[in-house]
Amino acid sequence: MLENITWFGHDTFKITGEMVVYTDPYKIKKLDTADLILITHSHYDHCSPDDVAKVSGDKTVIVAPKDCAAKLKGNIKITAPGDKFTAAGVEIEAVPAYNTNKNFHPKSNGWVGYIFTLDSKRYYLAGDTDHIVEMKSIKDIYAAFLPVSGVYVMTADEAAQAACDIAPKFAVPMHYGDIVGTKKDAARFAAEIRRLNASGPKIEPVILPQH
Ligand code: ZN
Ligand code: ZN
Repeated sequence: MLENITWFGHDTFKITGEMVVYTDPYKIKKLDTADLILITHSHYDHCSPDDVAKVSGDKTVIVAPKDCAAKLKGNIKITAPGDKFTAAGVEIEAVPAYNTNKNFHPKSNGWVGYIFTLDSKRYYLAGDTDHIVEMKSIKDIYAAFLPVSGVYVMTADEAAQAACDIAPKFAVPMHYGDIVGTKKDAARFAAEIRRLNASGPKIEPVILPQH
């Protein structure tokens, strides 16, 4: 299940399809070459220039919000919530990501999550966000990557409710096990989805092993 996805901890995923996509590269141990790198916002554990360089090649396209793009080198496409475009042959939509009951990620910063399509499957990377109203209009998602740690982002319970709004086929917890959050948060997220699923949409929670 989700064999084409590798989790390197925190919000760092490698998704392999017709193109190779990395998300928020951080603490990269092994050099690689992505076709596309998606960066959600400029916090150091999401926008890390050294780690971006470790998975970049000459043709890699890096998509990032303006304040993060300013820190990076390479083929950069600046984005903001609401943008729809194709980069490195991948269809991308930048969507809002922000806090509603804390101030680490203000909506006015223009930071983002991403919906992107690989092999006709739509993936949703939420970014650092709370459970926001815009999630209700996110549809037809194959795999959703949702933060579960609480503190800077939504809690595991809130993330499970967000998953029910989005109703992806697979819901994958992220943003735990490093700076904030533990495996318990991921387990709680999965258990809560299973509980809510009893009366809601069928979503399969998948806790990926950390590489
Ligand atoms: Zn952040
Ligand atoms: Zn974060």
